[in-house]
Amino acid sequence: MHLERQQGEAVPGETLRRFYATLLESFGPQGWWPARTRWEVIWGAILTQNTTWRNASLAIKNLRKAGALGWRRLRQVPIAELEQMIRPAGFFRQKAQALHNFTLWIEQVHGGSLRSLFGQEMAKARAQLLALKGIGPETADAILLYSGRHPVFVADAYTRRILSRHNLLSPTADYHSAQQFLHQHLPPDEAVYNEYHALLVEAAKRYCHRNVAHCEKCPLGKFLEKPTADSRQLTVTTSCQPSAVS
Ligand code: SF4
Repeated sequence: MHLERQQGEAVPGETLRRFYATLLESFGPQGWWPARTRWEVIWGAILTQNTTWRNASLAIKNLRKAGALGWRRLRQVPIAELEQMIRPAGFFRQKAQALHNFTLWIEQVHGGSLRSLFGQEMAKARAQLLALKGIGPETADAILLYSGRHPVFVADAYTRRILSRHNLLSPTADYHSAQQFLHQHLPPDEAVYNEYHALLVEAAKRYCHRNVAHCEKCPLGKFLEKPTADSRQLTVTTSCQPSAVS
């Protein structure tokens, strides 16, 4: 998977391509999303809200044990039982309701068919997902990208943190403006968006933490003006010292 330079493209696109190549070389392909089916991706995208993937995967494991990973079976599980199954993921009442609502909606609007949902224009499918209770932009985009294979970048907090610390984004950039920036400077390639987002998450988890950035160990450290010997203590809104975007 390569990102080719487009003729006459603005400079941030080049920087984003270099970040991608560096992260891919350092970490290797991430093989996202960690799920066996497209339905499992959807449940996982809902369950991982405001918690770690580890907790979400415990909830998925319980659903699998109960044979409730298909939408029909999941819809038949009484809400109280569903809440207990997904308890490890936290916010279990809201999430159980969100899962249940999704199964009702997919049957009523799409006859239970993901092909029907994802076969629509991406903007239409996105608007439908966003209209569902318990599904915000990040969850909708994770579903569209990783289950529907639509080219939409998941501009989550990890992505925004890294790009803002390299002065590609403002530290206060919201989800929408970060996503606009990425769509503006990267070609709409689902496979690249899939891999790039996973690589940024890995970089953030290993090195680019909320309050400390281990730039001296991080593969993206070479893009900073002065590599440091020590980890940087940061406040959420203070960036590192990036090199001029080049
Ligand atoms: S740890 Fe430092 S070099 Fe790595 S992504 Fe964060 S700010 Fe950049």
